[in-house]
Amino acid sequence: MNEQELLARGGLAATDKRVLVLRALAEAHGPATPQELHDALGARLNRVTLYRILDLLVEHKLAARHNAGERAFRYCLLDGAAGHAHFTCSRCGHTECLGSSGFGLMLGELVRRLPMRVDSMDISFGGVCQGCLAG
Ligand SMILES: [Zn+2]
Ligand SMILES: [Zn+2]
Repeated sequence: MNEQELLARGGLAATDKRVLVLRALAEAHGPATPQELHDALGARLNRVTLYRILDLLVEHKLAARHNAGERAFRYCLLDGAAGHAHFTCSRCGHTECLGSSGFGLMLGELVRRLPMRVDSMDISFGGVCQGCLAG
């Protein structure tokens, strides 16, 4: 699904700037801070507009906002689910989405079986990543 189709699914018009932000999220390696996204986008988008679009994407469930215990939130693409879990390494700070991992899929299945409607989900795991364990 391309950026235009994603925006349409979220009920948003596909403006050039929204497409840029979605693409930057898709190209980021794991959940990105607004600063990292801003660096990737360069002069094409000012910071205020970037924040506004990120808020809008979260509101329309196209992006997830993740608090990794840092000063800034991190943002990642959301594939139509209410949310997904994240893992943050306490040694190197590496953060990753567990959305499409086996665990992420199990979590999605569990949520679908709940009798209530789940609109948001923010599950965080902390520990030591594979890279740090190996090193
Ligand atoms: Zn690590
Ligand atoms: Zn994520």
